[in-house]
Amino acid sequence: MAINEYLVRDSDSLATALRVIDANGLGLAFAVDRDGRLRGAVSSIDIKERLGQGQSLAAPVGGAMKSAESVPADSDTETVSQRINGVGHIVALVDSERRPIEFASPARPQRIPVAEPALLGNELKYVTECITTNWISSQGSFVRRFETEFAARFGAPHALAVSNGTVALHLALKAFDIGPRDEVIVPDLTFAATINAVLHAGATPVIVDVDPETWNIDPEAIAAAITPRTRAIMPVHLYGQPADMDAIMALRERHGLIVIEDAAEAAGALYKGRPCGSIGDAGTFSFFSNKVITTGEGGMVVFRDDRAAERGRRLRDHGMNPAKRYWHDEVGFNYRLTNLQAAIGCAQLEQFDGFLQRKLAIAAAYRARLGRIEGLRLPAEIPGMRNSHWMMSIITELERAGLDRDAFMAQLGKAGIETRPLFYPLHQMPPYRAYAGNRAFPHATRLSANGLSLPSGATLTDGQLDYVCGVIERCVMTRTLVQATRTA
Ligand SMILES: *Cc1c(COP(=O)(O)O)cnc(C)c1O
Repeated sequence: MAINEYLVRDSDSLATALRVIDANGLGLAFAVDRDGRLRGAVSSIDIKERLGQGQSLAAPVGGAMKSAESVPADSDTETVSQRINGVGHIVALVDSERRPIEFASPARPQRIPVAEPALLGNELKYVTECITTNWISSQGSFVRRFETEFAARFGAPHALAVSNGTVALHLALKAFDIGPRDEVIVPDLTFAATINAVLHAGATPVIVDVDPETWNIDPEAIAAAITPRTRAIMPVHLYGQPADMDAIMALRERHGLIVIEDAAEAAGALYKGRPCGSIGDAGTFSFFSNKVITTGEGGMVVFRDDRAAERGRRLRDHGMNPAKRYWHDEVGFNYRLTNLQAAIGCAQLEQFDGFLQRKLAIAAAYRARLGRIEGLRLPAEIPGMRNSHWMMSIITELERAGLDRDAFMAQLGKAGIETRPLFYPLHQMPPYRAYAGNRAFPHATRLSANGLSLPSGATLTDGQLDYVCGVIERCVMTRTLVQATRTA
C-alpha cells in the first residue's frame, strides 16, 4: 500500500480519519499539514477518547492527534530498526522537508510470520559432522542420540524417530495391528493427518465433537460413539492444550482400547505433571518446520510397551527380521529418519527449554493484553494443565464490532501480521463426511469458524509482539467506532 493510504490532513474530520485507518488496517494514520509535513499521528483509540469527551466526528484531526515517531528517510537500517522496537513501533520515514514518504514497523517490509524455524544452536555444526563423516542416511549416531534424549525428556521408555508426524501416527496404529474391521475414534477439530493415518491403516475413523473449553476430543462424545468394533482412541492435544486424559484412559480401561496420543503440537505440554504423548499406549510428535522443534520434516513415536515398540521398529524398517538380514516376516515400510535430520533434531532438543519458555512468555503477553478486549476469547487456563502454547490461538466474538473472523484476519494482514484460521472441522470435508455418522458437531463448527492463530514463533521479538497487540487493540476499536457511527 502506498504512503498516502496512511495519511490524513490535520484539518480533515475525525470521521475521515476513521475511514482511512479502517481501510489501512493499521488503526492509525499520520497527520500532515497543508504542505504535507508530518504533524502527528491519530489512532482509533485517540478518536474514541475525543468522542468520550463529547467531541463530534466532525471535529478536525488536529485536536485528537498525538506526536508521531519519525526518522529521516535516508537513515541506515540499524537506526530504523532500533526505532521500530521502541515506543509505538510505527515510525514515519520523512524527507528533508519532514514530509512522510514511507513508514517502517516491525511488520514492514517483512511480514510477521505465524511461526518460523529458529536454527540458532548447533544445527550447522552437527549437520556438517554428518557430511564430513559420510553418515547421512538413517544409520548414524545422531538418530540414536535423538531417540535416547527424546525418550528421556518426554518420559517414555521407547522412542522411534520417523520421517514425519503423519507416518508416526500410521506406524503407531500398525504396531498395534489396527486395521480393517477396526474403528478408531478421532476428534472433529484437528489437522487432517490424524484421520488420514487411520484411513491409510485401513481402519474406519469415527469422528466425534470436541469440548468447548479445551477444544479437544470430548470424552462424553467418545463414550457415546464406542461400539464392539472400537479398537482405539486418538486424542489430539490441539495447539498445545492437553486433552482430558484421565477420562480417556478410564474409557480405555473400561472397554479394553488402545490410546494413541497425537502430540504433534504438544511437545512440552503437561497433563497433571506428565508429558503429553507419554500417557497413552503410544504418542506421536511432528518436527515439521513450524512445530516446537523441527528437523525440516520428521517425527517421533513413543511407546510404553516393549513389544509394541519392537513391532514398530521392525515395521519402520520394511518389516525386516532384525536377527536375519533381508528376511521379511511381514510387509513393512521405510519410515526412517535420516542422520542429517536427527542431527538438526539433537541441536533443536538442546534449545528446547528456551523455545518453550519463549512460547509461554509470548502466550502470557498476549493474555495480558488481549484478555482485556471484549470479543476476544483466549484459550482456557485449566488447573493442573500446562498448555505448551505451540500457537497462540483465539476465538473471535466480534459481532458488536461488525467483524467476522475472516474480516479480522484481513485487517491484520494489511498491517503485515500473518495469522491462520483454525482447522476446518473434518466432518465438513468431502473425504471424511462419511465418518461423521449422524453425530452433531456444534462445538468444533463454532470454534473453527471463529478461531485464528496469532504469530507465536520462538523468534518473535518483544517489539513485534507489542506491535501485534497494538494493531489488534486499534483494529477492534476502529471497527467498533465505525459500527457505532453507522448506526448513530
Ligand atoms: C503437524 C501435525 C501432524 C503431522 O505432522 P507432519 O510432520 O506434518 O506429517 C499431525 N497431527 C497434528 C495435529 C499436526 O499438527
